[in-house]
Amino acid sequence: MKTIGIITSGGDAPGMNAAIHSIVTTARFHNIQCIGFERGYNGLIDDIHHDLTLTNVKHISHLGGTILKSARCPRMLEQKFRNQVIETLINNSIDGLIVIGGDGSFQGAHLLSQITDIPIIGVPGTIDNDIDGSDYTIGFDTASNTALDAIDKIRDTADAFERIFIIEVMGRHSGQLALNVGIAAEAEQIICPEMAIDPHLIVQNIAQHINSYLIDNGHASYIIVAAENTYPDGALALAELLTKQIGIECRASVLGHMQRGGLASCADRTLATKLGAFAVESLISGYNNVMSGQVNGQLTLTELEKTGLGTKQVDPYLLNIYTNKLN
Ligand code: ADP
Repeated sequence: MKTIGIITSGGDAPGMNAAIHSIVTTARFHNIQCIGFERGYNGLIDDIHHDLTLTNVKHISHLGGTILKSARCPRMLEQKFRNQVIETLINNSIDGLIVIGGDGSFQGAHLLSQITDIPIIGVPGTIDNDIDGSDYTIGFDTASNTALDAIDKIRDTADAFERIFIIEVMGRHSGQLALNVGIAAEAEQIICPEMAIDPHLIVQNIAQHINSYLIDNGHASYIIVAAENTYPDGALALAELLTKQIGIECRASVLGHMQRGGLASCADRTLATKLGAFAVESLISGYNNVMSGQVNGQLTLTELEKTGLGTKQVDPYLLNIYTNKLN
């Protein structure tokens, strides 16, 4: 193996740069050179690339975003563009490709592996922590801390004004982030897809709980952490409905893309460093069409096809603690 290609694809996540740094330094140790393709699969289709040397990946591990840029690339859904990717890989003498991204990116990588012998390895980078085959994904810890910091600040003002807040956090279709930060912030309620709440009953459930909570606690702040996509019309609509239902003003705060940025936490940098290095070593060992992950502290490889099954559960112990507290 002489040359490895790297892309970052899909939603960016803090720690992606640490993964790039680790891949390049590990590859260098094995006398392998690295080429970075820009803007996810777009760079592979259009052949836009540059060499990644020790010099240009120096001191990047802390940076949020990705030095290779990321982008969605709908062209990957078409066979003719996937063929173009393979042409680019061949034209640049790429012996192995590492895709840092989420489950969408891995679906694309899996399709590529069906039409080429060039091995492809995935590295899980997404703040959503929704990938099967790794307990944690790169970016989840930083995003959790960013969201928690914002919620703690909202708690200050909510306490002062005795207000009810719905705070919407990211997660796509997963409640990992919502449960994690909701527990850490001592949110009075958490709503996320894993709780299987009928959307029509959400308002009723929350209203009932707020009423009994306020009777027991008098004037107090009340924070609801909601995973995006749990309530179909979003946090603003939910806040309006609740205000009408309980007769107390309820505010909504959608944290949005701030959760994707910021300096990568130590946990994300070390995870990215391990998974990036393991991806290179796995390529050298001859693995293909798998993702490097960490399960129960052990480095593992999972078939790319199986990384997006959606079977990953939120921590049942945490969920139980929350449910007991609510009742
Ligand atoms: P993430 O990787 O964070 O889940 P996306 O779902 O947007 O983000 O996927 C990133 C990119 O991966 C897409 O823009 C597309 O280029 C590629 N991709 C996603 N799903 C597929 C698919 N089913 N087939 C081929 N390529 C895909």
